[in-house]
Amino acid sequence: MGLESSTGSDATIDREWGLFVDGEFRPASDGALLEVRNPATGDRLTEVAAGTAEDVDAAVETARDAFKEWKWTDPERRGDLLREVGDVIEAHEDELTRIESLENGKPMWQARRDVELAARRFRYFAGAADKLYGSAVSHTPEEVRTMVYEPYGVAGLIIPWNWPAMHTGDFMSVALAAGNSVVLKPSPSTPVTSLRMAELADEILPDGLINVIPGGVEPGSALSSHENVDIVAFTGSDANGVKVLESAAQNITPVMAELGGKNPTIVFPDADLETAAQTAVSNSFFNSGQACTNPERLLIHEDVYDEFLERVSAQVADFVLGSGLDDETQIGPQATPQQAQKFAEYLDIAVDEGATIHTQASLPDDPELEGGNFVRPTVLTDVDPEMRIAQEEVFGPLVGVMSFADEAEAIEIANGVKYGLSAAIYTQDLERAHRVASRIEAGIIGVNHPSFALQGLPFGGYKRSGIGRKNDFEEAMHDFVQSKSIEIDLTEGGMSL
Ligand code: NAD
Repeated sequence: MGLESSTGSDATIDREWGLFVDGEFRPASDGALLEVRNPATGDRLTEVAAGTAEDVDAAVETARDAFKEWKWTDPERRGDLLREVGDVIEAHEDELTRIESLENGKPMWQARRDVELAARRFRYFAGAADKLYGSAVSHTPEEVRTMVYEPYGVAGLIIPWNWPAMHTGDFMSVALAAGNSVVLKPSPSTPVTSLRMAELADEILPDGLINVIPGGVEPGSALSSHENVDIVAFTGSDANGVKVLESAAQNITPVMAELGGKNPTIVFPDADLETAAQTAVSNSFFNSGQACTNPERLLIHEDVYDEFLERVSAQVADFVLGSGLDDETQIGPQATPQQAQKFAEYLDIAVDEGATIHTQASLPDDPELEGGNFVRPTVLTDVDPEMRIAQEEVFGPLVGVMSFADEAEAIEIANGVKYGLSAAIYTQDLERAHRVASRIEAGIIGVNHPSFALQGLPFGGYKRSGIGRKNDFEEAMHDFVQSKSIEIDLTEGGMSL
């Protein structure tokens, strides 16, 4: 496996990929194919089968059959198998890392981390599988009153393109640990990572437990509106989250929704400015600006505004853009041409509304990358909190910088958007850190730390950023089960109402 070339065909990814149903690859019902392109060059990488609503029907039926046994599989055994899935993902880390970097465009080290996180998710929830305790409310010679947790059935999972490996692992690991079977619909631009992970996991798990249907809106909405899907977990934009919620509502199907954000970084004058600037920049521009927890708003206290802005701008100006396969690359291309286009449009909107393009990194000068979806990482100043650039999620490598005079103003600006996914606060004052963290309307807060939650903490948003939590035992695991109350009357005459 050579890592040198960023262009042309690559045997790791260029093989025949079908829909993954019942433990094997198969063509789509109408034979349609989906082309997967390298975001760094625009070149074709491979083709996968593009699923239809009919294919979703078949996958759901297969998953329902597999569920019948998996539901009754000893939870300890389920845990053992899921631990092995974590191991097999780790054993194929190099291959999966390369596939993800190729189809998504992200730097290899970031893709590697993503694959590691996916393996960790399976191990974490492997340990949770046999710890879903019910309760005995009363246990007397006359009666037994108990509550048990049971899985829903078939879980329909819909994921975006920004963390293909981790998103495949996130809901799949918890859904399976809780005893559900799975039909996953990956993004049409990054389906191969999920297909390969399913193929690997199927070496360990029963056939039909994991099914993957690549494609766009057709299989996505067929899944979320399917009457035999028992729970839906959607990760994506809030606009599509609304559609998924609406379609699932037709069958009263519960939905977990991990949606967008417009996260703030807040820098107080007592912060360690050097460390804060480094962390804030990597936080905002991580994953080439395409992470839901990336802060696209940078709020700097007026006393340190100039100094902090200079520190941030110096780093952004020096970013090295390139192919994800190149070790030097800090920022890859946008994952799709549509994302690059959206980024350009938002810069125009920002400038039209009065913002200033303060700093931009340079585009790569390698002619091989001319067809790639590269955009220039950007720092915008003269941003007003009411501007669209300060209100709407771009999902690209930019920050809009604003200043504030005091804590109250910082909190007002931070909370003045429809989203509430995450926030980062920089201060050396513990009392202030606590005050501000408790007043920010967001599901995830970093204090002198990036705005994301590590494994074991609930991950999810307030307001329009979503419903439900993932990655932790307490909330995520309980989201994938329903409780059943059982009362057994042991008296002779029985109980009359
Ligand atoms: P998207 O909403 O366009 O697509 C997400 C997935 O939904 C894709 O698989 C897509 O094919 C599918 N889809 C689109 N329309 C659908 C419909 N009507 N019914 C069913 N499925 C449908 O999002 P994207 O552009 O792929 O990803 C970027 C968005 O995802 C951003 O808003 C980002 O903030 C969000 N995101 C959130 C989290 C989180 O955990 N909160 C994580 C990553 C990304």
